[in-house]
Amino acid sequence: MRPPFCRICDKKLVDMENGGLIYFKKRSSDKKWDKKMKKKRMNGHPPYADWFCNNHYQKANELKHLTIDKVMEALKGI
Ligand SMILES: [Zn+2]
Repeated sequence: MRPPFCRICDKKLVDMENGGLIYFKKRSSDKKWDKKMKKKRMNGHPPYADWFCNNHYQKANELKHLTIDKVMEALKGI
């Protein structure tokens, strides 16, 4: 897992109450990633998940039914 820095503003999440990890809808490439990691028995930061600080968590969480690239597109302006 990647160190907890907000994907949007790079703020470090010192306390998980101030944000957290969100898993978004998987793209076909994300499903392939899952399979590959499982086969190799490896752990890594999933490409469809990221950290969000307290300022951005709620907004990102509302969009988690979308794939991460769509979410980033939607959150770019905030
Ligand atoms: Zn943030």
